[in-house]
Amino acid sequence: MKQFPPLDFSHRSREFNCYNDKQKAAVIYNWLVTGMSTREMDEKILGLDSSSKGYQSFGIYRYLGLNGKHQGFFKGWPLPDIIELFHQLCRNPDYCIIFYYFLDCIDRHDLSDADNTLIAEANEYQPEDSLKEQTWIRNSWIGNSKDVNDRLLELPDIPEGKRGQVRISHSGTRYEYYSSTTVKETIKDLYDFRCQICGDVILRTGWKSDMNRVDSWRYLSADVHHILPISEGGPDVKSNMLCLCPTCHRKFHSGEFRIKPHDNAFIVRDELIGQDRELINRHRIIIW
Ligand SMILES: [Zn+2]
Ligand SMILES: [Zn+2]
Repeated sequence: MKQFPPLDFSHRSREFNCYNDKQKAAVIYNWLVTGMSTREMDEKILGLDSSSKGYQSFGIYRYLGLNGKHQGFFKGWPLPDIIELFHQLCRNPDYCIIFYYFLDCIDRHDLSDADNTLIAEANEYQPEDSLKEQTWIRNSWIGNSKDVNDRLLELPDIPEGKRGQVRISHSGTRYEYYSSTTVKETIKDLYDFRCQICGDVILRTGWKSDMNRVDSWRYLSADVHHILPISEGGPDVKSNMLCLCPTCHRKFHSGEFRIKPHDNAFIVRDELIGQDRELINRHRIIIW
C-alpha cells in the first residue's frame, strides 16, 4: 500500500471557518479522490465565481494538513483499501477528522460488514461527533480570543430540544436520551480534560508536553457526567455537568461519590470512607 504523505499544517483558519461541514467534506473528498482542481472546487462546491482563483478550497484542505502531495492520492483505489488505510492512520485524531469528512461523501449503506467494523473502531479512538464539535469550538468559537475560559463559559447551552426518542429495534422498544455534544465538549475544554475530583487526565497517542493549550485538547480524553441524569429529568446544560475521569465517573454511578453543597460551593462526599473531597470548579453548578 502506498504511504499517505505526512500532514503539513497551515495555521490560517479563515477559509476553514467560512464554510459548513457539508462543503468542507466535499472539498476534502474531491482533493483526495478525484483530484479536482481548487478553481473547480471553488466554483462547483463553494458556489464562488472564477475570481476566487481556488484560494477558498485551498484554505480548507491546508488547514487540515493536506497539501499538493495529497491531490488525487486515492484515485483508482477500491473503497475498502481507503477505509483500511484510514483505519491505521486514525489513532491520530488529525487523520480522524479527515476520515470523517471523507465518510460524509460516500454511501455507507453499501459497505461490507468488515468495512463498517473498521469505521466503528476508528470512531472509538475519537468519536466523530466529538471531533467535529471540538474542531468547531477551537476554530469558530474560540478563534483567536485570549480569554479562552470566558469564551467557553459564554457558549450558550442548547435550548431544551430533542430530549429523547423512542427507538424500535428487534429487541423491543427503547427510549434513548440525547445530550448535546457541543455542550459536553465545552465542559471538557474548560477543565482541559482534567477530572474535577482527582485531577487525572487521559492522554491519547500523539500528545506532547509542549503543545499549546487549545491544540492539546485533540489529544486528551475525559467523561462528562450529568449530576441529575437526563433520564430523570435533569437538564442538558453546563450547570448540570461535571468533567470527570472514567474512574471517578464510575464512582458517581455506583453511589460511592455524591455531590453536595458546602459553604456556598460544592464538595464531593466519598460515602465509602465517609470523607469529603474538594471539587476543582470553574463553572456554576446547580443541584436540580
Ligand atoms: Zn477522577
Ligand atoms: Zn455519568
